[in-house]
Amino acid sequence: VLIAGTLFGGVLTILAGFFLAGRALVPIRISWEKQQQFVADASHELRTPLAVIQSQTELLFRHPDRTIQEESEKISNVYKETRRMKKLVGDLLTLARSDSNQMEIERKPLQLDRLLADVSWQFAQMAELKEIKLTTELQPGLHLEADEARLRQLLVILLDNALKYTSEAGQVHVACHRASHGAELVVQDTGEGIDAEDLPFVFDRFFRGDKSRTSSDGGTGLGLSIAKWIVEAHHGKIRVESVLGRGTTFTVFLPAKK
Ligand code: ADP
Repeated sequence: VLIAGTLFGGVLTILAGFFLAGRALVPIRISWEKQQQFVADASHELRTPLAVIQSQTELLFRHPDRTIQEESEKISNVYKETRRMKKLVGDLLTLARSDSNQMEIERKPLQLDRLLADVSWQFAQMAELKEIKLTTELQPGLHLEADEARLRQLLVILLDNALKYTSEAGQVHVACHRASHGAELVVQDTGEGIDAEDLPFVFDRFFRGDKSRTSSDGGTGLGLSIAKWIVEAHHGKIRVESVLGRGTTFTVFLPAKK
């Protein structure tokens, strides 16, 4: 009960932080209607994990005599929902800051192939666990001026999705090569693919495919909208091609300099 109580307190702190920070961020570029929609969608998304945390905590309080082992399922549910909320709040803050132009892009020289190799390596274990073949084809010496932390975030979003939406024994391929005045990077998977009807909406905030919405992978539907923002903040372009049941390819063009 103590653990659950502490976690619940933590969640309230996260929420308070979000709303306080949100107040200080006055969106400049987006319309009032869009801002209202964003707040409505965010509140809706936060309600589900909060409701689970509240009900599970209430149940825990009913039996203070029970041990942690006996209540491990409820405690685990509280933990999972807290993690989901933490990710959601982090993603919401990124988008709120980008709307209000408070998200600085710090362009510095970096080597894209090295960054891609590093991020792919981070995902190697996850791929192995799912028995997915993760391959790379990286043209060496791809120098760019870009924000390393943001590009890392972009790659994590694309690779995380590729592995999430590809079932066991599938393949994920990561590549980068020189392109005219910049570099192109590709993240390709042999996963479930995206319905042609859904394809135009995948970069929209809170959009989740039917299957993804019902699954318990902890997705927020904000990853690709953040990915798009990062690419556009670098004056680049991102596009997606997909065949249902066959797989998906995300292609990103990044200019070498601003
Ligand atoms: P999330 O993954 O949290 O649901 P995203 O914004 O990252 O949110 O993705 C939006 C939706 O696009 C996902 O719910 C899923 O339906 C679809 N999607 C994204 N990447 C892939 C992929 N590699 N393969 C299949 N579907 C994908």
